[in-house]
Amino acid sequence: MIDFSKFNNIISLTSYFNTEAKCKQAIIESRWTDGDIVCPICGEHHCKKRTDGRYHCNACGQNFSCLVGTIFENTKLPLIKWFVAMYLISSHKKGISSYQLSRDIDVTQSTAWYMLQKIRNLYPQSDSEAFEGTVECDEVYIGGKEKWKHKSMRTPHTQGRSTKTKTPVFGMMERSTIINANGDAENITYVHAFVVENTNRVTLQPIIQRFVVEGSRVITDELNAYNGLSEKGYIHAIVNHGAAEYAHGDIFTNSIEGFWSHFRRMITGCYHDVSDAHLQSYINEAVYRWNTRKMDESQRFAHMFEISIGLVRRWTDIKLGLMAA
Ligand SMILES: [Zn+2]
Repeated sequence: MIDFSKFNNIISLTSYFNTEAKCKQAIIESRWTDGDIVCPICGEHHCKKRTDGRYHCNACGQNFSCLVGTIFENTKLPLIKWFVAMYLISSHKKGISSYQLSRDIDVTQSTAWYMLQKIRNLYPQSDSEAFEGTVECDEVYIGGKEKWKHKSMRTPHTQGRSTKTKTPVFGMMERSTIINANGDAENITYVHAFVVENTNRVTLQPIIQRFVVEGSRVITDELNAYNGLSEKGYIHAIVNHGAAEYAHGDIFTNSIEGFWSHFRRMITGCYHDVSDAHLQSYINEAVYRWNTRKMDESQRFAHMFEISIGLVRRWTDIKLGLMAA
């Protein structure tokens, strides 16, 4: 097995992965840790290597390469370009634009854009691990060019909570504690965020029920959409933003607001404008960045590498990884 902890900068990464064969070897060793090559088509064990470097399955008769089922399947690019792209994406705290990536790894801007999309989509947010304890919920409106439009051109009533030109995004944030490398308790937050059609009760509450364990304390603002959460088994605490109340002891939504500003900075600083069709991918990237921000470069790369080859990693694994670090 490759020791990913040595990849703490781009030099160590590129000097190790200096041939295509070494890149493939890393994939093979990580996918099939005990050397037993399992057929990705039918699941048969002990597939044999062919002289062309691919594998042959005696059960289903298919030949396959080590890239089948990974994000590198059918790629025409050298694998090192993918690895460097993944490294750059995981280490740039504010994201990386397709223009920047195209210059960094010498590919066209459209290729860089395609790679970024592929890598972003490695992080679908799953409800397999719901949040618990104290969870802040909040909604924001992203996009819209109203601010820069002349007054006479603005769509009426688009300021504040309106979905006429902006897209609503709903987020949930768990306040958690981990034991860090020094053995100290450390506060940490994890987030889930989704583009939603609107911020009505029928839209938001099922998402809360899916991603937040019953019995948790849910902190929201005074939006009507959150009415009735207590009847659904949650301890519902409300921050009254309308009355200029921003915190009441530990009842606040400031942590998730921190995530929204992180997301806004990522969009305005790096991606400038994002179409609705791709907004969720960018949110997934921001969520990934937030949830892994306590990891170092090599841990984050190791984690991204594992998902890129189809290994399932969950947030609790990240939490455990942090504790073990
Ligand atoms: Zn097979």
